Amino acid sequence: MSIEIKKALKKIRKKIDNSTKTCMIPGCKLPSINSHILQKNGIISSISRDRYVYELTETDIFKVQSHQLGYEARLIGINKAFSFPLFCNPHDTNVFKTIEVDNPDFHNYISFILLSYRALCTEIRRKLDSKKENELILADPVIKPIISEDHKNLITVFLDGCNRGIKHLEALKDLLEIEKTLGNQERFYFQVYEYELIPICVYALFTPGEPQQIASKPIGELPTIFIHILPFNSRSFILVGCLRTHLNQIIKEYIESWKNLNKEQLNKMANDLIVARVETWCCSPDAFEKIPPETLIKYKKYVKHNAFNHSIEQNINFNLFSDI
Ligand SMILES: [Zn+2]
Repeated sequence: MSIEIKKALKKIRKKIDNSTKTCMIPGCKLPSINSHILQKNGIISSISRDRYVYELTETDIFKVQSHQLGYEARLIGINKAFSFPLFCNPHDTNVFKTIEVDNPDFHNYISFILLSYRALCTEIRRKLDSKKENELILADPVIKPIISEDHKNLITVFLDGCNRGIKHLEALKDLLEIEKTLGNQERFYFQVYEYELIPICVYALFTPGEPQQIASKPIGELPTIFIHILPFNSRSFILVGCLRTHLNQIIKEYIESWKNLNKEQLNKMANDLIVARVETWCCSPDAFEKIPPETLIKYKKYVKHNAFNHSIEQNINFNLFSDI
């Protein structure tokens, strides 16, 4: 990739990062702030070292080599971890009040709804940014004249998928919105499993399925799993669930596969989750720095070759956390 293209890509990224985003609560026109929901009540801090954790962040375009990922795990201050411009200040403070208390109740239905709502808004924001970025790439005066037809087609296919993904997530957002506002409608199914502390924090969602299935199923019928791993008071709470109408046998088995695990099984489940399914995770520095370099190489290779693999069955033959 030439310096000119890298410069143009960096400029586009900066433009998106610096643009003002609007609050994602329906009807609100106020600008969103960088909110830090999981820091305020000691969740991320319980796996931090000197208030730092490892988080998956985008690699600087000037440092990307052909064999590298577009993402890398980097040491980051906990005030910056999981920080996205999602909501305006008043909504950020008021909507999530019940999970920002000193002793949040993770078994409560509304806690699951609020965590899932925020994870979903994060995913929508990431997809909107990615869509905008690729649209700007296609229109950029430096890139446009030299981009190959193949590359252009790839971006077009990616944008189609992105639009479909955003529609699917927006529909789920509407349903979470109703649950959040009315409470106890119980449209969603979830389970909570409690374990001794494991060194990662996740709040995320993923839509498993074979590519053809994902492309052909009507929006609304794609089953999406919400999963949150929350370290708190020397324990890890795993909240995992989905919309009740998405609860087929495969999804139910996946949710229940988090039940009654010994330490080794739990570490492997956490490994498979962050390797194959979700990008919004952070890890304690003590645990991350124990990962052998050869395992990190296996991880990078796996992610690079499986970026579009959303299959529920994945064969991952290494474990980032086997030494903890
Ligand atoms: Zn607002």
